[in-house]
Amino acid sequence: MITEHTTKPTFYSTGIEEAERLDREDQLSHFREQFHFPKGENGEDLIYLCGNSLGLQPKGAQDKVMKEMRDWKELGVKGHFTGTTPWTTFHELVNQPMADIVGAKPEEVVVMNTLTVNLHLMMVSFYRPTENRYKILMEKEAFPSDKYAVQSQLKFHGYGIDDGIIEIEARDGEKSIRLEDLLDIVDKRGDEIALIILGNPNYFTGEVFDMKAITEAGHKKGCMVGFDCAHGAGNIILNLHNTGADFAVWCTYKYMNSGPGSLGGVFVHERHLKDNDIPKLAGWWGQDKARRFLMEDEFHPSPTVESWQMSNAPILSFAPMIASVELFSEAGMHKLRSKAIQLTSYLEFLINSLNQPAISIITPEDPQKRGCQLSIRIKDGDKKIYHKIRESGVILDWREPNIIRAAPTPLYNSYRDVYEFIKRLNGILEYN
Ligand SMILES: *Cc1c(COP(=O)(O)O)cnc(C)c1O
Repeated sequence: MITEHTTKPTFYSTGIEEAERLDREDQLSHFREQFHFPKGENGEDLIYLCGNSLGLQPKGAQDKVMKEMRDWKELGVKGHFTGTTPWTTFHELVNQPMADIVGAKPEEVVVMNTLTVNLHLMMVSFYRPTENRYKILMEKEAFPSDKYAVQSQLKFHGYGIDDGIIEIEARDGEKSIRLEDLLDIVDKRGDEIALIILGNPNYFTGEVFDMKAITEAGHKKGCMVGFDCAHGAGNIILNLHNTGADFAVWCTYKYMNSGPGSLGGVFVHERHLKDNDIPKLAGWWGQDKARRFLMEDEFHPSPTVESWQMSNAPILSFAPMIASVELFSEAGMHKLRSKAIQLTSYLEFLINSLNQPAISIITPEDPQKRGCQLSIRIKDGDKKIYHKIRESGVILDWREPNIIRAAPTPLYNSYRDVYEFIKRLNGILEYN
């Protein structure tokens, strides 16, 4: 079960006074000032509902980068061990805050490489096919990069793609995947499945899966279970440790606001951390810290998830993340999540009140089964509507064949943003 007790908020009016009231009562509203908003042609702030794709730049990020540029300039190689943020231990600055964000122990979390790379590294360790158990269960609507990663792992091990992948999808006429259907596949075919890997939430529909129930079902059948939380980190309460999942991966440039192409996060459950028989692609940064610079021939893995690190950390990519995790630590995931439930429910309320047959929401209605994002299906895949929304000064994204994703994020979006978006959307649909 997702251990969150929330009821759906009630809204009283579709008028602007309701948005203003909600903004006044919003205890997190001051975080908005901590972000740079992209501007339109006339210098006006654009309405930004695209944190699910690329989070905005925290105002503190530039200073963090400049500080490391300065240390490099003034300290040269000495910067690895001296200065206020020595580079050899730089990645450790985010271990605890990141662990808090995803609900894990600090020794279970490391930030390194990028998302798809980490997914591969996790599959090296946790996708260990045998003659009778080699299949991978994933969503039919998985993010393409995850699909390619899975396909190439199957090929790498000598299996066919069609045979090797079991896809789960919503029932005909339904919008999201039912937990019972997932559990049923695991129950019936679990013996063939080596790995279950799901996006949580799914990038396309915004559906949140019950990670604990799925993990327990998978483990009962002897499957490994991992999650791609690219759309979950900084968005929903993940409780990764308590789910019991074997691993999880995520990126930090979506809800985590760490900059384009920034580093990825990895969780490995503590029960695997001291198991030195797990196959692992190793590098010197995975070596036990006490021995890292002894330049020995033998690999003595770190007793934490850091044993999966291969290279020393790219400091300039890391630096903006420090500014972002500081804001998350200050706000706290539970407060952010509470606001997100209200903010996204408000968006849903306004969309439904439009009563426009050209649009419908495919994201689950239950706030516990979704994060910030609502996926809005446009009838006949009419992309003109999307272009007109963008022209009206609202930034969100389009996913083929017919989906607009809108994600008001609790750190920097206001109720007024949501109100304005819907006002413009309504104008566009009325005259379409
Ligand atoms: C954003 C996203 C990616 C992108 O992968 P990169 O390796 O960071 O380019 C992959 N998978 C999912 C589920 C995503 O949402």
